[in-house]
Amino acid sequence: MFDVDDINNPLEPLKVEQALRSETMKLEYRKKNKPNEVNILDYTVIEALNRQIPKDYLYDELGLERCPTCKNYPAADDKFCSNCGQRLEG
Ligand SMILES: [Zn+2]
Repeated sequence: MFDVDDINNPLEPLKVEQALRSETMKLEYRKKNKPNEVNILDYTVIEALNRQIPKDYLYDELGLERCPTCKNYPAADDKFCSNCGQRLEG
């Protein structure tokens, strides 16, 4: 049977993690073997993928939830940080 869910969720966390691993390996390879081919875009892609992986909130000294990436205070039920786009857990 055709898996519609799979098509509709291209950024499902497991796939994002696989993509992130593969991009990180490519970057590590380039850094080691072809340093002049390392591009700012490589870092941009890795950073964008990283933001698709749900991360737990940080808590400040008052116990308020903060974005783990940019330290912004997102709205309580936000799935993504409105400031940097980090995907948030919970
Ligand atoms: Zn953020």
